[in-house]
Amino acid sequence: MTVEIIAVGTEILLGNIVNTNAAYLAEKCAELGLSCYHQDVVGDNEERLMETIRLALTRADIILLSGGLGPTQDDLTKEAAAKVMGKTLYLHEPSKEAIRQFFAERNLEITENNWKQAMVPEGAVVVENPGGTAPGIIIAENGKHVVLMPGPPGELIPMFEKSIMPYLAGLASGVIYSQTVKICGVGESKAESMVEDLVDAQSNPTIATYAKIGEVHLRVTATAPDEKEAKKLVKPMVKELKGRFGNHVYTTDSEVTLEKAVVDLLAANKLTACTVESCTGGMLSARLINVPGVSEVFKSGYVTYSNKSKRKLLGIKKNILMKHGAVSEQIAREMAKTAAALARTDVSVSTTGIAGPDGGTPEKPVGLVYIGCNVCGRVTVKECRFHGSREKIRESTVSAALSLLRECILQYYSEVTFGGKEK
Ligand code: ATP
Ligand code: MG
Repeated sequence: MTVEIIAVGTEILLGNIVNTNAAYLAEKCAELGLSCYHQDVVGDNEERLMETIRLALTRADIILLSGGLGPTQDDLTKEAAAKVMGKTLYLHEPSKEAIRQFFAERNLEITENNWKQAMVPEGAVVVENPGGTAPGIIIAENGKHVVLMPGPPGELIPMFEKSIMPYLAGLASGVIYSQTVKICGVGESKAESMVEDLVDAQSNPTIATYAKIGEVHLRVTATAPDEKEAKKLVKPMVKELKGRFGNHVYTTDSEVTLEKAVVDLLAANKLTACTVESCTGGMLSARLINVPGVSEVFKSGYVTYSNKSKRKLLGIKKNILMKHGAVSEQIAREMAKTAAALARTDVSVSTTGIAGPDGGTPEKPVGLVYIGCNVCGRVTVKECRFHGSREKIRESTVSAALSLLRECILQYYSEVTFGGKEK
């Protein structure tokens, strides 16, 4: 089946807002195995919107519209879609009640124009909007499905996931089931090339790759008449991906984050940890502390930003700092060694780098980062070269540090404890 995505809003045409809804919907459609050949952006103009919907109906089975469902004069997506489909609007009592409740719960006064949002085209499926007042709408006729969703991503995404996605999966072949294989320590392009043959040959299940900072997620999705069948289709593909990426797979559980996988690994091996950060300034410890139950393993987080603090707090010798500079392999190593001793932990992770935008030199450019990992006295230092803004470089450093820590612990246990044999 084919799908066409129409984003409605003059703000998008003018470039005032970025059309993230289209990107989101396109990714989801790919996951569902729906082919998308056209996307449109149209302003808040009824004539042009009707024209766009008519054209979309000539070339797609499913039309996904976002925006223009609000209470104001320029919100006219519903009116335009109803006219194209030859439907009149009527007052949908449950939606009226939902709007009344939405305002009452927030102690807000309802203005008259809000009731406009409870008007729906005859024969349409009305979709609940847990995040706002405008319900979603599906008009289905003659094998065509016109889906209307609110513009704010905070409303569109939950509505899509809860109601629209199952509806579309149902159109395809029943239920949809997906599992995400999360990998770290492998770059995006490398990961993509490692699954290229699978993606090229995909039909059901499909594989979608999502690049995150420092990680790649591979989402395997199948549609089948029932969940059992769908799971059966997903399972061998997940196994194949696990085989290809080996230890780089840190979880296949959608709820597990990289920091949680690291904390679990520390806990499983009864290891305590500390962080010692320069360029990330506490972001690494903050990410670890995001994980509930981290207190079992995490002891201290030091931010030693200046040379003086590296000397005074950690006791790193002035001559080493002078000789190699704060952003160096040696200092990352010293930081990791001294911090573990200071905090009396089994494990420590250090970061030191040039986050920019200033401070780079030809020898040590912006984005140069050293990450040190000390696992029970075995220190590994990794040199990284990141790109982008100061924020992006710091976030990349944090993810790389988590990834390196995980790798070092796994390696330690395979080499030291198991005499070189894999667990
Ligand atoms: P509202 O009830 O808030 O008016 P609406 O369904 O009428 O919602 P719009 O008026 O078109 O939607 O857009 C409201 C806001 O939603 C925009 O200001 C923008 O912040 C966001 N938004 C709209 N369309 C998109 C889009 N395609 N991508 C990302 N954000 C969007
Ligand atoms: Mg609006």
